[in-house]
Amino acid sequence: MHSAALSTMLAGVLLAQTGVDDPVEIRLVANMGVLVSQGESKVLIDALFADVERGVFREPSAQDRDAILNGTGAFEGVDALLVTHRHADHFNADEVGALLRGPAPIPVLGPDQVRAELRASSADADWIAEPAPGEAADSLARLCGDDAECGFSIEARPLFHNHTDENLSYAVTFGGTTILHLGDADPRYADFSVWDDVGIDVVLHNFWFADSEAGRTVLQERWAEARHIALHVPAVIDREQAIAKFGEGHVLVDPGERITINPGDHD
Ligand SMILES: [Zn+2]
Repeated sequence: MHSAALSTMLAGVLLAQTGVDDPVEIRLVANMGVLVSQGESKVLIDALFADVERGVFREPSAQDRDAILNGTGAFEGVDALLVTHRHADHFNADEVGALLRGPAPIPVLGPDQVRAELRASSADADWIAEPAPGEAADSLARLCGDDAECGFSIEARPLFHNHTDENLSYAVTFGGTTILHLGDADPRYADFSVWDDVGIDVVLHNFWFADSEAGRTVLQERWAEARHIALHVPAVIDREQAIAKFGEGHVLVDPGERITINPGDHD
């Protein structure tokens, strides 16, 4: 990945539009799928997939799916969809292909394997952006236009998940607030030091971080000052159980739930 260069390029086209002190909202679509927004600046991450896991994990509601595909309601004016990896509980090529062929296509960023699946599904290649210099910057700049600004910046860096599936983590910065989505990074083997040069305010991690010594160490030592929010809660665990485990404001369980991040209130 050429994330540092990407960041530099994006910085030129993605200047802050909304106030740096405006709150950032994290709205759960399902599983690890979220809409992260500050005012009119909106980014979807891992938010368009189908229930091919047979109910093991929650899936996007029919209402949210339609709204994402049509760019309506809470999903009106979304600027980009980021995909961490190709697993079916995070991404589905047919679903994302439908988005790109529909009335509200948006740039989609993802690792090589995700982009290959999208191209194979005949999705419009113009919207498939490599999270590296050039393509991604061009796509996002085209979307934001020459005069308008997206109001955020995106960094993408790989974090190990397993030996066969590439996993990208994303830092999205709105004004002075940076949200880091880890995808399904494995806390035992991923090299989290790739983010050492970036100040992180909120870490979105999967459910199992809390169950492993390695995961707890990563969160408590590397990102001690950041707010930790658990996603990817198995469907057999309800909201009450999840709150008991992580605490109110530190987990998103049911589709549509949201957490508001106010500047300076990160832990
Ligand atoms: Zn997963």
